[in-house]
Amino acid sequence: MELQSIILPGIESTRPFVLAGPCSAETEEQVMQTAQELHDKGLKIFRAGVWKPRTKPGGFEGVGSQGLAWLKKVKDTYGMYTATEVATAKHVLEALKYDVDILWIGARTTANPFAVQEIADALEGCDKIVLIKNPVNPDLELWIGAVERIYNAGIRRIGVIHRGFSSYEKKLYRNLPMWHIPIELKRRLPNLPIICDPSHIGGKRELIAPLSQQAMDLGFEGLMVESHTCPDCAWSDKDQQVTPETLRFILNMLVIRDKAVTTENLSELRRQIDELDTQLLEALSKRMRIAREIGQFKKENDMPVLQSGRYDEIINKRCMQAVELGLSHEFVKEVMEAIHEESVRQQLELNSK
Ligand code: PEP
Ligand code: MN
Repeated sequence: MELQSIILPGIESTRPFVLAGPCSAETEEQVMQTAQELHDKGLKIFRAGVWKPRTKPGGFEGVGSQGLAWLKKVKDTYGMYTATEVATAKHVLEALKYDVDILWIGARTTANPFAVQEIADALEGCDKIVLIKNPVNPDLELWIGAVERIYNAGIRRIGVIHRGFSSYEKKLYRNLPMWHIPIELKRRLPNLPIICDPSHIGGKRELIAPLSQQAMDLGFEGLMVESHTCPDCAWSDKDQQVTPETLRFILNMLVIRDKAVTTENLSELRRQIDELDTQLLEALSKRMRIAREIGQFKKENDMPVLQSGRYDEIINKRCMQAVELGLSHEFVKEVMEAIHEESVRQQLELNSK
């Protein structure tokens, strides 16, 4: 994919790239007041949802297109860039009419290829930035598929937003971060910027700071944080919003470990890892060769392949050694079980010859 930068003129290219603003545009006053405070705190991109996907009917479903006029006013008054969620072709056309700078596709929409394709078709030929939230379900291919649909519509300034994955069991997080998924996405599409949305992952304002730090430590490019002048009065997602002042504080506290500074140390450590991995593979190969020799002996002496006493002995001994070496018992048990299973498979193969 040949992507172009999502950094807009006047925005620093240093991490994090930040989008901030209320979950929903509620009234013109709330939008203008929040934008003014965010602008005062040095924030440059104002987000607000005007069409809100709600789990159940009857909740606040957004103010619709009139909210886009307020976003336009934010742009004209404070010179901030604007961002909103689009879920249908009509939303796209409306957002383009009000010159919204960044359009994002929400998590429920990304999960639906028909909807993403409809949005992609409506975007064809425009030069906006499009950010694609992860689908609600932990499906990396579906996420990449949505990115491809937007790319195929000719959009080149694309980014993704990691907002966590929903689960039946509600634990610490509102949406599980499952960091390995965005990390794998980064491996597959290294030029695609990743923006973390700690508000929707955490669901609680206390989690915004630690999640933001974690995202920065993982090398993500940006953050999208919900911010409201009076979070407790918000009409949607009130628990996960912070005031512009708190947001500024959180951003100031972030420790940005610059990727470039550590590359050299990292390459030496990576060299050591490569060497150890090679040794592990060589040792495994040797172990399997000996296992086959044992298998040959068992075959010639009509002995069964699996001898459970020996199996228990191997697992128990290795787990005890592991603990002494500072490794986790569970981890080594899993590894040894896998190795033993492969040895048995190889011995059985001899028998079938
Ligand atoms: C939002 O950003 O307010 C929103 C609805 O997000 P998500 O699609 O991640 O639930
Ligand atoms: Mn929200």
